[in-house]
Amino acid sequence: MSTNATTFDAFRLARKRETLSGEATVSQLPRLAESVLDPAARLRYEIAGRIDEDGHPGAVMKLSARLPLRCERCNEAVEFELVREVPFRFVQDEEELNALPIEDDELEVTIGSPAMALLPWIEEEAILSLPLVPRHADCALPSAVEPESVEADRPNPFAVLGSLKRGGGGGPAGG
Ligand SMILES: [Zn+2]
Repeated sequence: MSTNATTFDAFRLARKRETLSGEATVSQLPRLAESVLDPAARLRYEIAGRIDEDGHPGAVMKLSARLPLRCERCNEAVEFELVREVPFRFVQDEEELNALPIEDDELEVTIGSPAMALLPWIEEEAILSLPLVPRHADCALPSAVEPESVEADRPNPFAVLGSLKRGGGGGPAGG
């Protein structure tokens, strides 16, 4: 059905510095599909295995996609450009994971496996990249109707004159 590898050997990828790349459609990513209007939208991924300077296996994941989301304000589609790059470190098991100090925000740690599931992994990262409240930058719908500011508060004699002078109504183009 799909040409995507469903699993890969995380440690081999790192050791051999292999790169895994391709595209997944949103329909293959059911949790992401809940937020994306077009199931045929595609998520590109590139996972480059590496051994970091401390000798730990890992990979850098790059994701890119143009995903139509639903604008929370007007309910129409709003295109979101997803671009994400995350460095990962692979650990052997939960024990190793728990032993790590939790201080590096720049690096994500995940349990690697010789048969690591590819799509759920990239799906998770794609979901983390989505805006919490998708909406058009210049959405046609205003957020609230603001009352016009009241200008006639100050006692100003010229204001009275002005209102007296203000004759006749607008032209034909009024509205
Ligand atoms: Zn909108």
